[in-house]
Amino acid sequence: MTKKIMLMGATGSIGTQTLEVIAAHANLFELVGFSYGQNIDKAREIIKAFSPKIVVSAQESDQQQLAAEFPDMTNLFGEDGLIELVRTEDYDILFNAIVGSVGLLPTVEAINLGHDVALANKEAMVVAGYNIMTDAARTGSKILPVDSEHSAIFQVLQGVACQDDVRSLTITASGGSFRDKKREELVDVTLAEALAHPNWSMGAKITLDSATMVNKGLEVIEAHHLFGVPYENIHVVLHRESIVHSMITLNDGVVLAQLGASDMREPIQYALSYPKHLKMHNEKPFDLTEIGALHFEKIDLVRFPMLDLAYRVGKLGGGYPAVYNAANEVANQAFLDGKISFLEIEQLITRAVFEHMEFDGQTLNQILATDKETRQKVRQWIADLTSDKEE
Ligand code: NAD
Ligand code: MG
Repeated sequence: MTKKIMLMGATGSIGTQTLEVIAAHANLFELVGFSYGQNIDKAREIIKAFSPKIVVSAQESDQQQLAAEFPDMTNLFGEDGLIELVRTEDYDILFNAIVGSVGLLPTVEAINLGHDVALANKEAMVVAGYNIMTDAARTGSKILPVDSEHSAIFQVLQGVACQDDVRSLTITASGGSFRDKKREELVDVTLAEALAHPNWSMGAKITLDSATMVNKGLEVIEAHHLFGVPYENIHVVLHRESIVHSMITLNDGVVLAQLGASDMREPIQYALSYPKHLKMHNEKPFDLTEIGALHFEKIDLVRFPMLDLAYRVGKLGGGYPAVYNAANEVANQAFLDGKISFLEIEQLITRAVFEHMEFDGQTLNQILATDKETRQKVRQWIADLTSDKEE
C-alpha cells in the first residue's frame, strides 16, 4: 500500500525536495494533489510527472489555464482552494511546505479531519501552536516535524523510553550569513550578502530569517509547542558546521544528539516514512572524518536581539508570537523588495511587539485578526519609512 501525500507549496525549495523523495520511493509514496503559489511552469511539470487528482493555484488566472490544459484534474485556487484541498478525503499525510502563516488554516482543518501532518511550515506552528497541538491531541493526528532541528529532536526522542526524563532541548544555529559581523557592520549589508547562506540552500524568506536570527526564534517557539518543553529549558547554541542538527539533555546529564549532512531530504523523508528510516536516494555515506572538527559557541543575545525577542513573545503567548511572525513576514518581504534596510527589519518587529497589548490570551480567530492587523500596521510603517527616504 502506498502512502498518499497531499503537498502544499510543491514548487518551493522544500516542496521540490519532497517531490524528489516521493519520486525516489514511488513504490511507497504517491502524490495525490498539490498547491503552489506563483510558478505555473513548474506546476505543469509536476502535473505531467505525477498525475495528481487535484491542484490548487494561488491565482485564479493560473487555475483557469490549468483547467483548460488538464480538464480531468480538479482545479481550484486561492485560500479557499487550500481548504478544499485538505478536505479531499483520500490522502494519508498533508505535507505542508508553504511559507508563511497562509499555511495555518488548511493545517488546522486537516488536523481536525484527523489527518497526519508533516510540517515544514514553522510559521503556522508559531502563530497557533497551542491550537494545533490541542486539536492534534484530540483527533489523534500526528504532527511530524520537517525542520531539521525539530526532526533531529523527534528522532532522538524515539530512543527515550520515559519522555519525562528529558530535562532540556538544545537547538543548533548556523548563525546565518552575517554570523561573523558585528552589529555596527550590519548597517549597510546588501540583499545578495544576506541570501548567501554558509551551509544551506533554501527559499529566500528563510535564508533572510537565518541572517536576522528570526528563524532560530521561530524554531524555539516551534520546539516549545511540538515537544511541550518550557522556554527556560530550550537552549540555542551556535554551531557553524550544521552537522549536529540538535540535541536533548536527560535528567542524568546524558546528551543525545542527531548528526548528519546538511540535506533537507533526510528530515523530509523521515517525516514521510516515520517510523521507518528508509535508504536515501543517491546516498553518499556521511563521513565525520571529512568534517574533522565540530564547534559550539554560546549565542550572544545582544548581537542577535531577534532571538531574545522570540523568547519573550513565546513566554507571553496568546497573540504575541503572531505579532512577531506577521511583522517579520512583512518586513522580510520589504527587505527582499529593496524597500528597507537590514536593521529596519529588527526595528519593525520590535515596534510591532512592543505596541501590542493583550491581557488574557487569544482564540484562533482573534489570533488571525491580530495577524492581519499587524500586517496592515507594519505595511503602513514601511510606507512611511520609504516616503521619508524619498523626501
Ligand atoms: P519557498 O519560498 O522556496 O517555497 C514556498 C512555497 O509556498 C512555494 O511553493 C510557493 O509557491 C508557496 N506559496 C508561497 N506563498 C503562497 C501563498 N500566498 N499561497 C499559496 N502558496 C504560497 O520556501 P521554502 O524554503 O521551501 O520554505 C517552506 C517552509 O519550510 C517555510 O516555512 C520554511 O521556514 C520551512 N523550512 C524550509 C527549509 C529549507 O531548507 N528551505 C528548512 C527548514 C524549514
Ligand atoms: Mg531549521
